[in-house]
Amino acid sequence: MSSNEKKPAILGGTPVRPEGPPGWPAQDPAVDAALERMIEDRSWGRYHGPHCQTLIEGIRAYQECEHALLCSSGTAAIELALRGLQVAPGDEVIVAAYDFKGNFQDVLAVGAVPVLVDVAEETWSFDPRQLAAAVSEKTRAVIVSHLHGAIVPMPGLMQAARDLGVTVIEDACQVPGALVHGRKAGNWGDVGVWSFGGSKLLTAGRGGALFTNDAALAQRVRLYSHRGNEAYPLSEMQAAVLVPQLAQLDRQNRVRAESVSRLRELLREESGLTRPESDAADDCEPAYYKVGRKYEPSAWNGLSRDRFAAAMRAEGIAIDAGFRGLHRIHSRRRFRSVGELTHASRADEDVLVLHHPMLLEDESAIAQFATALEKLRDCAAEIAEADM
Ligand SMILES: *Cc1c(COP(=O)(O)O)cnc(C)c1O
Repeated sequence: MSSNEKKPAILGGTPVRPEGPPGWPAQDPAVDAALERMIEDRSWGRYHGPHCQTLIEGIRAYQECEHALLCSSGTAAIELALRGLQVAPGDEVIVAAYDFKGNFQDVLAVGAVPVLVDVAEETWSFDPRQLAAAVSEKTRAVIVSHLHGAIVPMPGLMQAARDLGVTVIEDACQVPGALVHGRKAGNWGDVGVWSFGGSKLLTAGRGGALFTNDAALAQRVRLYSHRGNEAYPLSEMQAAVLVPQLAQLDRQNRVRAESVSRLRELLREESGLTRPESDAADDCEPAYYKVGRKYEPSAWNGLSRDRFAAAMRAEGIAIDAGFRGLHRIHSRRRFRSVGELTHASRADEDVLVLHHPMLLEDESAIAQFATALEKLRDCAAEIAEADM
């Protein structure tokens, strides 16, 4: 390497990936063909057509569930799930204190009170052991999200929820296609949701889906969203681009999983970027939307997490801080919390996430990741100082 190639891009050197991270959605001939067919038959501009129904049937078959409903976003899907469960003002809904912030807002949107619980130390995802202490007479439901490539231990969670009489909303927005003990993620809960947002593995720019085996719940959601017209629609145009993506999901998930095992191999000796344990959970095949790692500044000469992420982004690698802890960004008047929320606070401070598009590239992408790490490792103190 020349000296300018060795110098981190954030200090003025040449980036490892001058072209930047790969864009998303990726170029996909099957999606292009669907768009071309839509131009010919003008189904892009119709209220009704074949595409939404094809997608619904596709999701039912893929998730092996009775009912699938389409809607305008994952956030809307969670709200509709709460409405379908008849969560009402005064009720409580248990949510992990480290989670997608829309989930918290959805609970408020139906007039209920979020009850925040701590996450599991090694996965930053919902910890079933927290459930019992969080339940009160007002508890109506729990929202459980699989985050950053980790999988919530669903059999134990469902058992605990059944014993306590709590209904489970399973947020599979980050893990479409993941298998949890032989069953699709999203299909363990009483109701599951997906997002088709612009960064997600299945994308239509916006959109979401809800699935369940509970006919009465599905019917309540339909009644709530039909107001003489659809109030939370997914359009024919969106459905048309999603159908071919669903057909490719398993294959793409396998490619991403291979990249993640290479990445894991690479980070095995890397003390400053440790992995969540359940990456390797038995009998689970995770899916990877964001790959989470725990960042330890002490292993990087005191370089802060945000500065490290900025330095990686300067190299052309899409790394960001994870979520904010919900207990840290909302007024205490808006929620009840249980226990110390220690691990959720740590997650708020320590989590880094790698965005998925790179995982569909060949081995050279992981090699570039390694090169970028090496550059930062060599110059960590200098990068930290330049920030002062
Ligand atoms: C993206 C996401 C959602 C909802 O996404 P929308 O952008 O509203 O479609 C919900 N939960 C989690 C965990 C997510 O990552």
